[in-house]
Amino acid sequence: MCGIFGVYSNERINVAKKIYYGLFALQHRGQEGAGIATSDGRGFHHHKGIGLVSEVFTNNELQSLYGYIGIGHVRYSTTGDSTIENCQPFVVKSSFGPIAIAHNGDIVNSTILKRELERMGHIFISSTDSEVIAQLLVRELLKTEDIIEAIKNTAKRLIGAYSLLIMFNDKLIAVRDPNGFKPLCIGRDENCIYFASENCALDTVNAEFVRDIKPGEIVMVDDGEIKCYEIEKPCEEVNTELNLPVNDCIYNNCVSTCMFEYVYFARPDSIIDGISVYEVRRKIGRILAKEHPCDADIVSPVPDSGITFALGYSEELGIPYYEGLIKNRYVGRTFILPTQEERDLAVRLKLNPVKSILKDKKVVLVDDSIVRGTTSRRIVNMLKKAGAKEVHLRIGSPRIISPCFYGIDMATKEELIASSKTDEEICKYVNADSLGYLSIEGLVKAIGRKDLCLACVSGCYPTDVSCKFK
Ligand code: AMP
Repeated sequence: MCGIFGVYSNERINVAKKIYYGLFALQHRGQEGAGIATSDGRGFHHHKGIGLVSEVFTNNELQSLYGYIGIGHVRYSTTGDSTIENCQPFVVKSSFGPIAIAHNGDIVNSTILKRELERMGHIFISSTDSEVIAQLLVRELLKTEDIIEAIKNTAKRLIGAYSLLIMFNDKLIAVRDPNGFKPLCIGRDENCIYFASENCALDTVNAEFVRDIKPGEIVMVDDGEIKCYEIEKPCEEVNTELNLPVNDCIYNNCVSTCMFEYVYFARPDSIIDGISVYEVRRKIGRILAKEHPCDADIVSPVPDSGITFALGYSEELGIPYYEGLIKNRYVGRTFILPTQEERDLAVRLKLNPVKSILKDKKVVLVDDSIVRGTTSRRIVNMLKKAGAKEVHLRIGSPRIISPCFYGIDMATKEELIASSKTDEEICKYVNADSLGYLSIEGLVKAIGRKDLCLACVSGCYPTDVSCKFK
């Protein structure tokens, strides 16, 4: 996943603090590492580290990040380990000047591209696909001597998800892949132009939302002016080697924005491609109630991810909404922690039941998704131990049956409980009295757009992913 934030100040004021606040607002998109790179037009300054934004940057560090242009990144690892080398932005040198890159997404063919680059003598310092993009970009820049042409040529080689911020000398450039997998938007105030993964970060720095960057669009800020370009669609020549449809689905390479942004990943106060994440989640709750009604005493969310779904569910059926679980707000997303052991402890640190609410009640428990099933099982048992008479689990996404190759950490197919078990088996495993998943049709209806990536719930990938199965 990851979150990215960039600023260009026309007044040439230092932008590091603004980036810091922008990253703060995007902290939910990644908690493993953070970094900022700035440019004062003469050279780059950068700092990155492992941990939360507030842990990585001190005031002194922010003050040493001079420059009126800058990009920042919060990291959530999918490709590459959790090490400082893998934190971003990546800064690479070229004879045309330094380039810094911040990337959100996963490149499906990165291993193949990396091997190819290594054969040509490139040395990699990290194990991430983002560095592959950086190295490809430098190569293309050497060939074309034009940053926009270099980006276009690089994009032709990439299969997968990439929302990018690139700082090149005194230019700031934003790129959204042709599929538009990940969100990216533009904002401005009287002094600055901003790019952000989500508009909630623009609100934080008091900037005005201008628009979403279109799938396949390159937006460059050069000398204070915004210029827009288009990436060509991936050409077949490049893809032929990998051109095998997966699971009998012919990939279409059309716009396919990640549905999980709406369901789980983005902040509910964000608006992605003109659609309010909060309203989507509320509608999902309502549709879920119609698809899987329940005669219960209370509706209760798994906080925070289940809250808005539970509200919609409660509204639709007129069952009172209560907080049966309280979240320790100083604990981050448990799933993002790299080991199972850490995740186990984190659930207990994170959630505690309210016995007076739950005792002797038939409870509808609403959460956003079941991935491995371990969290749901623990929470259902927690509710029962606290005195709940029955626990009916309702899930605001369809069954997750296929891994994500575009940047959501969804585990392998074998680890996905719904890839091998029926609803009845899952219900039994999580110890619930009933279980209801949202249908794919219900999901599409709630989001209100059809150009979505539904690979994790359908097994149909919008791009070629065959190299992942070799
Ligand atoms: P589990 O079924 O135990 O693997 O975990 C599912 C829970 O983790 C859900 O309730 C979500 O809130 C959360 N979750 C699901 N997918 C992700 C993801 N890709 N990254 C972070 N958290 C996730």
